[in-house]
Amino acid sequence: MDPVPPASPAPLLAAAAPGASAAPPLPQLEAYTVDAAWLAPVAPVRISDHVWQIGTARLSALLVETDAGAVLVDGGMPQEADLLLANMAKLGVAPGDLRLILHSHAHADHAGPLAAIRRATGAQLVSNAESAALLARGGSGDLHFGDDLLFPPVHADRLVQDGETVRLGATAFTAHFTPGHTPGSMSWTWADTRDGAPLRIAYVDSLTAPGYPLAHNPRHPRILADFRATFATVRALPCDLLLTPHADASGWDYADPTGSRPIGCAAYADAAEARLQAQYAKETGPASP
Ligand SMILES: [Zn+2]
Ligand SMILES: [Zn+2]
Repeated sequence: MDPVPPASPAPLLAAAAPGASAAPPLPQLEAYTVDAAWLAPVAPVRISDHVWQIGTARLSALLVETDAGAVLVDGGMPQEADLLLANMAKLGVAPGDLRLILHSHAHADHAGPLAAIRRATGAQLVSNAESAALLARGGSGDLHFGDDLLFPPVHADRLVQDGETVRLGATAFTAHFTPGHTPGSMSWTWADTRDGAPLRIAYVDSLTAPGYPLAHNPRHPRILADFRATFATVRALPCDLLLTPHADASGWDYADPTGSRPIGCAAYADAAEARLQAQYAKETGPASP
């Protein structure tokens, strides 16, 4: 919107005008913009007998049906709340049927709509101490991104420890702390079936360090040791089926599920470790001529 100039400026303001116009205007504020596929709605995609993807083509928002209500695992971007509720309705899940919200890490592209979903449904949000602080700040003061990735703040109702199990009805979700991408990063495992056959599902958090300093990171000094421990954790997970917050990281494309080629937990950890080693070598190696 353009400001409307005053019809007859006061003399003092008029005198100040030439100096004010000499410098370029300050930059406009920009919202968090992402790849269009991250925001492309999809109809619910059936993953297994009781798990559905209800978010977008590339960002996971998993709905898990149990005998005592439903569970949402991650939500995607802040503007996805209405899409998630509409897709729940398509599956016959009323807002009040959602009982629990689990999540991976407190960045705007995965925790964005959790405040709105928690408010609309009354579901309890499960996090851990490290991530709960960042969720409550709406992503501000992120140790790598500062205030660049903000989302509506949300309070966790329950904090879990590494290895703790959260139950709803007969379904048990186990939290695995997988720090690295964020200090509070969590992965979740639970058991389901596909066509009636047992299926151990692993929802494993992002294993990337986008732009993070690795060799000397004053805000996360043990980031490399954390990643190393996380890779070992991920390789040891019960993992017949791997899903990730960014679908393509594990070979999924929710817009074309038949074209998906999901990889396993070991391959996911191996690829992440190789990428991290390359990033570390680039950071610490001799400067190119
Ligand atoms: Zn992230
Ligand atoms: Zn992300």
